[in-house]
Amino acid sequence: MPENRGMPHAVSRLRAERLERSAKPFLARGGFKRERCAQCRLLPSHCMCALRPLLTTRAGVCLIMADIEPLKPTNTGWLVADVVPDTFAFGWKRTEVDPALLALLGDPQWQPHVVFPGQYVAPERVVHTVQSPPQGAGAGPGKRPLFVLLDATWTEARKMFRRSPYLDAFPVLSLETEQMSQYRLRRSGRDDHFCTSEVAALCMDLAGEHLAGQALQAYLAVFTHHYLQAKNQQPVDWQSAGHQRLREVCGGAGGASHPGNATLPIGPMHASSIAMDGLD
Ligand SMILES: [Zn+2]
Repeated sequence: MPENRGMPHAVSRLRAERLERSAKPFLARGGFKRERCAQCRLLPSHCMCALRPLLTTRAGVCLIMADIEPLKPTNTGWLVADVVPDTFAFGWKRTEVDPALLALLGDPQWQPHVVFPGQYVAPERVVHTVQSPPQGAGAGPGKRPLFVLLDATWTEARKMFRRSPYLDAFPVLSLETEQMSQYRLRRSGRDDHFCTSEVAALCMDLAGEHLAGQALQAYLAVFTHHYLQAKNQQPVDWQSAGHQRLREVCGGAGGASHPGNATLPIGPMHASSIAMDGLD
């Protein structure tokens, strides 16, 4: 039974640590400076906490975040941590590595996949599917996929990738997709650039976690709507396409009529089959 409500998730904790370290308060350019909900970062009038899906996933996500990234109000690694219970987050530094990050990458229950474009990597490292080698002679269900995402601008991500030798041992998962980004908040000017939560959604799909993948996509659409409506001083449309999609995907568990402790009655092995039955 997942219990990921009420407790600050990894990105939230990283943001708090980063705020503590910063000499002067971070004010996002163009962001709102009024009171925000501590759980979803939105204005209280546009809070989307009641819509947070409660899922169980076998796959995990390890976010390695550029320094300022946890402070950005539009950072979507936050949304990944909202949806995927086993989301870990670490701040990236050029000169040192968090020992907890190394411990996670070395944990035998996980098979890390560094998600990065294949054209920048030696071909023998590149994979296009999720690798799940068995965990020992007993040949159990295999290791759990851990998707290592560099949560940064593209320029920063390239630098982080080059200067993180502890990632060299792992396969590089190169995503190929024709989907276009629906993310309107921080356009990169290139159609093949995805925001972090979209990348996580594609990874979940590749791992067979279709419910989590669809929930992430819908949750991003809902966040984008709430964020832009708040910015434009417009009310939330609780019947927007994103809200409807999220309700379809999560079977009402993400609906505003079930605030607080809504739970999906599914275990880790059943998540994807329920999504398939319900939607395909
Ligand atoms: Zn909230």
